[in-house]
Amino acid sequence: MSDQNNDQQEQSHERNIQDDDQQEQSHERLNYWVENLDPEQYAVIVEGATEPPFTGKYLHVKGPGIFHCAACGQALFSTKDKYDSGSGWPSFSRPISGNSIGERKDTSYAMMRIEVHCSRCGGHLGHVFDDGPPPTGKRYCINSLSLVYIET
Ligand SMILES: [Zn+2]
Repeated sequence: MSDQNNDQQEQSHERNIQDDDQQEQSHERLNYWVENLDPEQYAVIVEGATEPPFTGKYLHVKGPGIFHCAACGQALFSTKDKYDSGSGWPSFSRPISGNSIGERKDTSYAMMRIEVHCSRCGGHLGHVFDDGPPPTGKRYCINSLSLVYIET
């Protein structure tokens, strides 16, 4: 009996990972996944903190591979769009798709910045700036702690 129960739980896990249609329940979804986050990840993803520059484990990853949201698993960035911005954080010229990232104004620290987050669970990722390379001119400056890297 206990084996069957474990199987059922794993199946429902997979359903949640693959379910892209219900973005409205973002907070419930985030609460569900934050149980898997360590305290450093929680501070960044849930509370909006920023990891110190040049400390992230994905800063020098070249790929090929895909970066997923550490909270919910949604694919967010490809190493194809990753470049060395010199900022000390993993930097990308674009997200992996147009609807994988959400943006909002962030006026904290007396700055006007654009905060970026996972469009599915709302987890904080970093900020986007207008000093990136062509053709997008964008620099998505992302915390390694918000990401899980999977080689392809
Ligand atoms: Zn997410």
